[in-house]
Amino acid sequence: MLQKWLRTYFYGRIMEHKILSRENIRTTAIRLKLLRILVNSEYALTFRDLNDRLEQQFDRVTIYRTLNTFLNHDIIHRIVDGAESKKYAMSDIISEGYKGHSKSHMHFKCERCNKVYCLPIPENESLDLPDGFEYRSCTTMVKGICKRCKFGNT
Ligand SMILES: [Zn+2]
Ligand SMILES: [Zn+2]
Repeated sequence: MLQKWLRTYFYGRIMEHKILSRENIRTTAIRLKLLRILVNSEYALTFRDLNDRLEQQFDRVTIYRTLNTFLNHDIIHRIVDGAESKKYAMSDIISEGYKGHSKSHMHFKCERCNKVYCLPIPENESLDLPDGFEYRSCTTMVKGICKRCKFGNT
């Protein structure tokens, strides 16, 4: 159990450093901590979720500025799901163990817990676009019941 935790911890740390260096972003405590929270979350998080999970207190402006840096580098994306707060999720790491680029993916919103999950959609999903329209990416909002709510193992 402890070993599993340690592995997750170190794997997560390495991943965060890799992401920041890939994007040429200077490593700071807040950037590492925020990334760690986002990398390890299976569902998208609101500003409030992120603020709650930051063990150390950072002021709101610093957190917003950090999120904007991540958004500008396409490290994370913002999800508007109709709830009052926007949610944030990693761009490259999709929930439920799927890893890959997520330009095209679906957002699954659970009608019970209101969590939003980024899930893959089949590659080359053919869309019947009108002549002259160029396909770039696709994001769909799907509603349903997540497996945690359905089977009760939260
Ligand atoms: Zn749910
Ligand atoms: Zn997403």
